[in-house]
Amino acid sequence: MRIGLTGGIGSGKSTVASILVSAGATLIDTDAIARAIAQPHGAAMPAIEAEFGPAVIAADGGLDRARMRDLVFADTGARKRLEAILHPLISAECEGQASAAAGQLIVFDVPLLVESKRWRALVDRVLVVDATEETQVQRVVARSGWTPEAVRAVIAQQADPAQRRAAADAVIFNEKMSLAELSADVRNLWERWTGAGTR
Ligand code: ADP
Repeated sequence: MRIGLTGGIGSGKSTVASILVSAGATLIDTDAIARAIAQPHGAAMPAIEAEFGPAVIAADGGLDRARMRDLVFADTGARKRLEAILHPLISAECEGQASAAAGQLIVFDVPLLVESKRWRALVDRVLVVDATEETQVQRVVARSGWTPEAVRAVIAQQADPAQRRAAADAVIFNEKMSLAELSADVRNLWERWTGAGTR
């Protein structure tokens, strides 16, 4: 079974991913793949340089992320051209990792799952981790030292919680529960979906 795991920043998505891994799932981290293919010698670099020119290439040969951010921020066409390069490579890498884990429960960690239609077709179930905005802000401030305003700005760019919940087969409301309770909820869900006990 393939599960797509998503949730807003600070919802506890990474925590749920690690609970699933400790129960025996294989995690495929799409953000890590996206970063890796745009590092020096990454699979996306030749196409990025051909499309956008040397101005977006850092001295080490990887993507100059600040330059690219400015470019796609100012120009949605540029964002589409970048995505047209990245998405097929990310999909291919995900497929490679998934086939290496055939027969296991595979969890795709996809921050923008709800925002991206193509993802919904690739997974059997969508698991959404949710929390109130106040809790999201508190957790991210505590975790990373960002200002509350910076966290709120990221939340504002992400899918809204109602849209995320509407796309979900299951929602874990990770609010006012201990990590032990969260772990129990995740393991219960695993049993429900796979009909099997966890390790
Ligand atoms: P996300 O991946 O959604 O941004 P994380 O899983 O990294 O969020 O969680 C953000 C922070 O909140 C982490 O430091 C995590 O340990 C903490 N956290 C998440 N869920 C709980 C919970 N139920 N109880 C206590 N702390 C939690």
